[in-house]
Amino acid sequence: MSDFDELIRQIRGCTLCSLSEKRTNAVPGDGSRTADIMFIGEGPGFYEDRDGLPFIGPAGKLLNELLNSIGLKRDEVYITNVVKCRPPNNRDPLPGEVASCKPYLERQIEMIAPKVIVMLGRHSFLRFFPGESIGQARGKARKWNGLLAYPIYHPAAALHNPKLRPVIESDFRRLSELLKEAFQPERAQEEPAQQLSLL
Ligand code: URA
Repeated sequence: MSDFDELIRQIRGCTLCSLSEKRTNAVPGDGSRTADIMFIGEGPGFYEDRDGLPFIGPAGKLLNELLNSIGLKRDEVYITNVVKCRPPNNRDPLPGEVASCKPYLERQIEMIAPKVIVMLGRHSFLRFFPGESIGQARGKARKWNGLLAYPIYHPAAALHNPKLRPVIESDFRRLSELLKEAFQPERAQEEPAQQLSLL
């Protein structure tokens, strides 16, 4: 079993906090284990808890649309959450629950080693930048531990408040530009080799 599989096994069987008592399934994450981009939400909801997969309910459908709008597919990125088990009635995760899951998220970031982490919503953002305001920070790229961090509103917020939909859509367009800028140097280096291989 790979180290990553072992980590997923540990998350699935975790009993570090009381969220484990009420869950149907823990939700470790989904997508490419070598992804350059990692999306981090808040915590599983009803559908995610039922099936053990992140972002498969209504917020997940919107996330899929937003990803597709900038030419990304779910299996090209990694999607996970700050807490891996559903808080009862979708309440906000408590600080102790976030703390219990902290080592799991840290290991996922370490092992996947993405170049960009996209924080979906306030709880995800606060986990990395405590005490700040997502309203102020959203749509602006910044550094976190040598990675590019990009906070945006949670897709569920755009479902509850339709006025936020154009905001999240434009933040995704900006994300697409950022990704082009971030990966341009590599492409520029790859091009001569690709051209050579065509000769
Ligand atoms: N909301 C989240 O933050 N995560 C999910 O996986 C689903 C909904």
